[in-house]
Amino acid sequence: MPILRSEPLITELEIKVRLGQMVLDLARDLRGKELTVVGILRGSFMFTADLVRQLYINDIHPLIDFIFVTSYDGTESTGEMRLLKDMSLDVRGRYVLIVDDILDTGRTLQFAKDYISQRGAAQINTCVLLDKPSRRIADVQADFVGFTIDDVFVVGYGLDFNGRYRDLPYLGVLKEE
Ligand code: 5GP
Ligand code: MG
Repeated sequence: MPILRSEPLITELEIKVRLGQMVLDLARDLRGKELTVVGILRGSFMFTADLVRQLYINDIHPLIDFIFVTSYDGTESTGEMRLLKDMSLDVRGRYVLIVDDILDTGRTLQFAKDYISQRGAAQINTCVLLDKPSRRIADVQADFVGFTIDDVFVVGYGLDFNGRYRDLPYLGVLKEE
């Protein structure tokens, strides 16, 4: 059973500062458009919540929805995507910002982009807290990236290991005991 390294990879303060910067970039891109934020559950719940609070500070008040997409079992992606919960909002003609915790192989984000595009969104941008470009399989990039990281397994700030550690307010790394 791996244990959590005591020192954070990315601290609570570093996350907060970076989100403030990201939202300035987002705000430039969004000016005048009506936004729908679609978070990908479960990993993005904390990031989505903090991101929309930063949008609020910039006087941007999006509609907010979630989809629940999963492909994950332990630390290895199975490659098979499942939609466990659909959106409740109609995104036809809308400007949608997909929010996910981490862009790893890219399968999840590719699936979400294709799905929301099929549902008739007018424009889709993507925003991820973390990017692990070294692990990419699907040909997908995020429009907004918080931090680019090496190939380490991170937990906290919404990200789990077998369901645990999602509650941490910072990003940590697991190590083998
Ligand atoms: P992808 O489909 O891009 O391979 O994977 C995206 C999903 O895999 C993320 O939303 C996340 O749930 C999970 N994932 C990928 N890398 C990590 C990681 O380092 N830590 C955790 N906890 N989950 C990860
Ligand atoms: Mg996820």
